[in-house]
Amino acid sequence: MIDTHCHLNDAKYEDVDEIVNNFLQAGVEKAICVGWDLKSSKQAQDIAYKYPSVYYAVGVHPDECSSYNAQELQNLIVKDNKLVAVGEIGLDYYHNKENKAQQKQVFENQILIAKQHKLPIIIHCRDAFGDTLEILKKHAPFDYGAVMHCYSGSWEFAKQIISLGVKISFTGSVTFNNAKNLHEVAKNIPLDSFFFETDSPYMTPVPNRGKRNEPKLVLDVARFVAKLRNMDENKLISITDKTAKEFFNL
Ligand SMILES: [Zn+2]
Repeated sequence: MIDTHCHLNDAKYEDVDEIVNNFLQAGVEKAICVGWDLKSSKQAQDIAYKYPSVYYAVGVHPDECSSYNAQELQNLIVKDNKLVAVGEIGLDYYHNKENKAQQKQVFENQILIAKQHKLPIIIHCRDAFGDTLEILKKHAPFDYGAVMHCYSGSWEFAKQIISLGVKISFTGSVTFNNAKNLHEVAKNIPLDSFFFETDSPYMTPVPNRGKRNEPKLVLDVARFVAKLRNMDENKLISITDKTAKEFFNL
C-alpha cells in the first residue's frame, strides 16, 4: 500500500525514524512527503534522500503564496528518482479570500513549471471550487497527471474534474460519519480514478480520531472505502496502488 500524501516534514514529527518504521511494519511500502513552502519542500527532499521508501513533492501551498519565488522552486526541481510531483499547490479561500489574484497566479505558475519538467501536480482546493475548475480547464489536458488531494467536494464536482483527466485522492476525512458527500463520491467514482493518502499528521481516520495521524493509518482509509463499495480490501488496494504507481511513476 502507498500513502500518496503525508508531511513527514511537519514539526509535529520529531521521530521520523519511528514513523517510517511504523508504516513499513504495517505493510505500507511507500510514502510521498509533500512540501507546502520552499523550506518544507527542501526538508521533504532531505527526508526522501534519507529513507529509501520515501518520495517527495515540492511546491508552494496557497496559504504561503506571498513567499512564492519561481526561481527558488525551479532550483529545488532536480532530476533524481525521488521527486515525483509539484505540490501541494492550488487555491484556499477558507483561510484567505483577500488575495485571490495572487493565489491564482502562483497556482498557475506552478502548473506551468510542472508541465515544463514533465511532472504531475498535487492540487489543494478548499472553498475555491469554481476558480479551481476554471484554472484546470484552462490548463487541461494534464499529460503528466493531476490529482486533487484530500478531496472535499461534491460528486457533481468530482465528475467534472475526472472528465478533465484529474484523479482524486481520499484522506481520513472520507471516514468521518458526517461526510455524506464524500461517501457518495467514494461509492460512485470509477475504480481507476482515485487513490489514498493520510495528509498526516492531520486528518486522522476513524477509528483513531483525536490521535496524531501517521502514514501507516492509510490502511484505515482504504478499509473504509472498500467497505463502502462492498469490495475486498486487498483487491481495492491493489487497484489503487497500481493507479498511484503509474501516476507518480513509482
Ligand atoms: Zn497536505
